[in-house]
Amino acid sequence: MPVLDTLGRPLGNLRISVTDRCNLRCHYCMPEDEYVWLPRADMLTFEEIGQLGDLFAETGLDRIRLTGGEPLLRRNLPELIRMLAGRSWLRDLSLTTNGVLLADHAADLKRAGLHRITVSLDTLRGDRFRKLARIDALPDVLAGIEAVRTVGWTGLKIDTVLTRGDNDDEIVDLLEYGRGVNAEVRFIEYMDVGGATNWRPDAVVSRREILERLTAHYGPVTGIDENSSAPAARFRLPDGLTFGIISSTTQPFCRTCDRARLTADGVLLLCLYAQHGTDLRRPLRAGASRETMLNLIEAVWKGRADRGAEERIGVRQRGAYIPVSVLKKDAHLEMHTRGG
Ligand code: SAM
Repeated sequence: MPVLDTLGRPLGNLRISVTDRCNLRCHYCMPEDEYVWLPRADMLTFEEIGQLGDLFAETGLDRIRLTGGEPLLRRNLPELIRMLAGRSWLRDLSLTTNGVLLADHAADLKRAGLHRITVSLDTLRGDRFRKLARIDALPDVLAGIEAVRTVGWTGLKIDTVLTRGDNDDEIVDLLEYGRGVNAEVRFIEYMDVGGATNWRPDAVVSRREILERLTAHYGPVTGIDENSSAPAARFRLPDGLTFGIISSTTQPFCRTCDRARLTADGVLLLCLYAQHGTDLRRPLRAGASRETMLNLIEAVWKGRADRGAEERIGVRQRGAYIPVSVLKKDAHLEMHTRGG
């Protein structure tokens, strides 16, 4: 029987951050000059990740997404993928990457058994990429996307965070790029989560606005009716091209959220907005029995009442969620630590 939280939501999907390090400094995620990193000795080993995965599977979980930080910075990642892909309970194993190192790794990831891949890409213009991510790496990302096609993967997704005045004039260009590389583009509303220390309401390009702009360009956009716990609502252009919008800021979907997050050092978080988590690494390393660990995980999920994004909507004077001074004292509050 699946374990349900206080709102009747199952635990279906675990996002595992495999590192808090990142090779980009995106303006909405890691805008500061200095960061405090998680101690290396605290990072979960692949074996520990596998053990925890098996425990979560007993609660009904059958999907895992590897994230970070930048997951391709974790050494020997294909080993972890090979191990997880071999678990009989796992129905879907995916990875979210910024794509910078993907061209070198795509073939190994595919061979290791990764099912699906999502590349984050906010702009198709080299100068903008440099400005928004503080590194000159657009050609590498595009090469990574090409490599995904070359090794024969299907189901590629491209995730784009739109921020007003930065890249919101590229909505059509990005969709057309996605069409050309056989990827479904998903536009993500800018969220006021951890690392977004410069967040302001008027920088958000809402789902409504995205749909209005696409309708003006292509003609009527239709919603695709789906009974899914996926974060993206999907739509179809008159010419048949499909795309998604993740409207976490203006139309959150907490009621169907079946996702938990595990930080690279083993802290279980129940919501992207959660300010506290449950340390699973300590009891695991202290030798807690399988039953003790399982009881802990089940008790935490059963007590879950989080509706972080919905609660944020009710906040009147909305700005950055957590002040920089507080973020600097607790790396676990950062977006790059908890994964997107
Ligand atoms: N490094 C990987 C990547 O770039 O995809 C994985 C980690 S990254 C934190 C995961 C996703 O979170 C990315 O698509 C990123 O754009 C998104 N993200 C980070 N900060 C965000 C914010 N403030 N609002 C919306 N999405 C955000």
